[in-house]
Amino acid sequence: MVIGLEVHCELKTATKLFCGCPNMFGDEPNTNVCPNCLGLPGSLPVLNQRAVELAMAIGTALHCDIRASTFHRKNYFYPDQAKDYQISQYDEPLNVDGHLDLPDGFRVGIERAHMEEDTGKTTHAGTSGRIHGADYSLVDYNRSGVPLVEIVSRPDMRTADQARAYVTELRAILVASGASDGKMEEGSMRVDANVSVRPGPDDPFGTRCEIKNLNSVRSLGRAIEYEAERQIALLESGERVVQQTRHWDEGAGRTQALRSKEDAYDYRYFLEPDLVPLVPDAEWIRAVADTLGMMPAERRARLTELLDEGGGATRSQLLQVATVVELRLDDLVVEAVAAGVPSALALARTANEAATDADAARALDPKSYVELLTLEANGSLSATQAKAVLAELFVLGGGDPAAIARDKGFEAMSEDSLAATVGEAVAAHPDEWARFCEGDDKLAGFFTMLVMKATRGQANGKAVAAELRRLKG
Ligand code: ADP
Ligand code: MG
Ligand code: ZN
Repeated sequence: MVIGLEVHCELKTATKLFCGCPNMFGDEPNTNVCPNCLGLPGSLPVLNQRAVELAMAIGTALHCDIRASTFHRKNYFYPDQAKDYQISQYDEPLNVDGHLDLPDGFRVGIERAHMEEDTGKTTHAGTSGRIHGADYSLVDYNRSGVPLVEIVSRPDMRTADQARAYVTELRAILVASGASDGKMEEGSMRVDANVSVRPGPDDPFGTRCEIKNLNSVRSLGRAIEYEAERQIALLESGERVVQQTRHWDEGAGRTQALRSKEDAYDYRYFLEPDLVPLVPDAEWIRAVADTLGMMPAERRARLTELLDEGGGATRSQLLQVATVVELRLDDLVVEAVAAGVPSALALARTANEAATDADAARALDPKSYVELLTLEANGSLSATQAKAVLAELFVLGGGDPAAIARDKGFEAMSEDSLAATVGEAVAAHPDEWARFCEGDDKLAGFFTMLVMKATRGQANGKAVAAELRRLKG
């Protein structure tokens, strides 16, 4: 299998690429429009500086060369574009020759990341779902002229898993660079997959098909697997693959031909005469690079190092690291560890509990979060209690964890009452206790659970384990 991905990403600017209309998703149709993005005669495009900076931020984050570039008109007749052409970068794109490293180290080449304007959104009423055979069509020009960057990968991926990992990592990079909100479900990130197959890794590339309408990472993976199977079946039955654009049908779980290369449009590209070349100087490129925050790969490395100091990361901790970075909660872990909380605890609470409401966690004052973890780390709160206090912090949008714990009546159990509760549990289950003493360590969990039940989570799990060991002698 050989895979190359084309990803369109809407830039998070206040206004459109060539006019001052708001760049806003979900507004009443055809309210964010003007003579320019409606293609009225006599209107002229004015390039949005912020869009260029975000496009350069993407180029920098993907290790591209940022170069002098030009804009072309891509001509076609279709109602999603009132001008009858789309302004796009063609043979001289802004960003070229970059790469993206997947979390496992596999490197995917980036051919180009160029700027263009988005089209309007058409909705075709009727059973066909397309303009042909539609009862009528609606068009919303709010999206027309929204700034896009199209990121074209090299055909370097070999499995659906790599394609999924690429899109996931790319989305994280786009969000981290501030260029896009990366919302596939709102269409601010749209993926087309080019797929071909060949007998073996040293054979020349086969003929590719391009799959459109992939609305999630999951459908991307399913569509690639399906398409590769389809092509293999064709080749094995002696037929050949025809270069086509295909549509992924999520419900039916298959791809369908949209158009073949023979009926591809001739776009009659020519230089946009109303725009000058875009030539960013070295100083501007550097200024944009300086504003770039830490990228996800760097953030993961930062957490992994913290775990290394605490004795090395396990496989499940590496997954926790990925989750925490993806949800942009890693600063919380770093701050907690700096305040003396063990890295494993800080990571686990963040990946397991804070992650369930990442928005609330990001909105929280990091000080209260660190304070809460400190209370758990020093044994003032049990794990169960700490989780309950965290849930309350989320509901309240912040607060003093110690005060919340007091309000909830959480106090650390005294050693005496803990020992007494453990003693009662042991006395009530002599058979299990005998087996535990004979070396069945699994029963430690059984007794811990009894103590937790009896104390409604107030007991500290580590203290219970220590008491059990002490009684066993
Ligand atoms: P188009 O205009 O036809 O979409 P692009 O240059 O924009 O062409 O994109 C081509 C995409 O197809 C790139 O992502 C590239 O990696 C990929 N690609 C090229 N050849 C193959 C192939 N044989 N198999 C799979 N993907 C391919
Ligand atoms: Mg393309
Ligand atoms: Zn406009």
